[in-house]
This record gives sequence, C-alpha cells and structure tokens, in this order.
Amino acid sequence: MESIRENMQSIQQLIETTCRKSGRNPGEVKLVAVSKNFPVNIIMEAYQAGQRMFGENRVQELIQKVPQLPPDIEWHLIGTLQRNKVKYIIDKVSLIHSVDSLALAQEISKRALKAGVTANILLQVNISQETSKSGFSEEELLQNIKEISVLPGIKIKGLMTIGPLVAEAEEVRPIFRRLKELSVEIDGMKLPQVEMKELSMGMSDDFTVAVEEGATFVRIGSRIFGPRNYEEGGEEHEGFR
Ligand SMILES: *Cc1c(COP(=O)(O)O)cnc(C)c1O
Repeated sequence: MESIRENMQSIQQLIETTCRKSGRNPGEVKLVAVSKNFPVNIIMEAYQAGQRMFGENRVQELIQKVPQLPPDIEWHLIGTLQRNKVKYIIDKVSLIHSVDSLALAQEISKRALKAGVTANILLQVNISQETSKSGFSEEELLQNIKEISVLPGIKIKGLMTIGPLVAEAEEVRPIFRRLKELSVEIDGMKLPQVEMKELSMGMSDDFTVAVEEGATFVRIGSRIFGPRNYEEGGEEHEGFR
C-alpha cells in the first residue's frame, strides 16, 4: 500500500490539475483529512506530512483524540451532531459541517455564547433527498436560514452535502452543481450575517467532480488512510459507502 504521505500528495496533485482544467485557483480548495476510525498514531503520520485540517464524525471519538494530538490541528466535525453533545465540542472545533436543523443551530448559538466563542458552521443540505441522510431539504433550508443567520455566536460560512452512493462519480455531478446553485441563490438574498463562501462536498470517490463544480472543502478519508474497519455504532450512518 502507498504511504499516507504519497496518498496526500497524489490527492493534492489531482486537486491542482482539476482546478487548472476548470479555471479555478487551487488555493481555494482545502483538504479535510477524515480520520474517523483511525488511531492517533496514524493521524500523526498525516500531520508529519504537513496535514493540519482533520475531520471526525463522532463527538466521542473527536474529544478523545483532540488532547492526544498537536494543538495546531484544526478539527472539523463532519457527522451528525446531537444537540446534547454540542457542549462537548463547541470550543474544540473550528468548523461544524453538519448543521441540519434550526434547533441544533439554536443550541450551538447558546453554547457558543456561554463558551465565549463564535461557532463557524455550514448548513447541511440533503440535495439527493435520500431518507437515510440528514440535512435540510432545499425548502427547509430556505425557510430556516434567516432565523439561523440572526442567532448570536454563530457564523454561517456556506453549505455542505454528501453525495449519494453511485456506480460512477459522474452521476453525482448534478447534486454538487445544485448545491453550488443554491449557495448562489442564498448569496443573492443578501442576508446580513451569511457568507456563502464555502462548499463542503466531495469524498474519496467523487472529489474531482466536486472540485469541478466548485467545492472549497473536500472531505477525504479512505483515499488517504486506507479502508476503515467499521464497527457500526449508533451515530455512524453517513459517509459509509
Ligand atoms: C467518512 C466521511 C467522509 C470520507 O469518506 P471517504 O469515502 O472515506 O473519503 C466524508 N464525509 C463524511 C460526512 C463522512 O462521514
């Protein structure tokens, strides 16, 4: 198997060539290394190869890992977040990709104020409308975004989606394209505290398509770290493909 360093280099190269082909600046695309299910010594390999942005999808796992790893790591929460767990991560993560309800946003706001931080969030949209996935429907998003945007202690940075499981990455393109369109529509609403700068989309199998369609964060796990040995837990139901 290739080393983690080599895997990351080849991903970065693909991001760069894809950006050049589609007239984008490669600096706009940030790689979130999805380290879920991998132990800290493996994460350190990626760190030593220069990676600083890591994504975890479970609160429990995230809070166990954070104190064992260097403080200059930027942690992203990418998985479903239960309201009663917000308090554990509010001052530990730099971006929450998976805000999927008004109630969750309200809890994040409350906890951010209490902790004296500003929570950067993305709103997760279930573009593909799969019942197994969380996220706002497009309609729900448009109904709720105003109310979320005025919550104190929160900054909406953009949108996130998880592509459906498909045979060919190309089939996910309309989903990514739609997320981009939606972010442009929302930008046009000129909501005071809403920035639509970030689009979190694309995983190991479909990230080049996502980059072509405007991704600013790609969330990549298995292509860096290798296959995960899943012990299916209660919270883990997304991203397993
Ligand atoms: C696991 C996961 C990923 C990474 O998946 P890979 O296919 O291993 O790259 C990305 N996003 C989310 C939300 C995940 O849960």
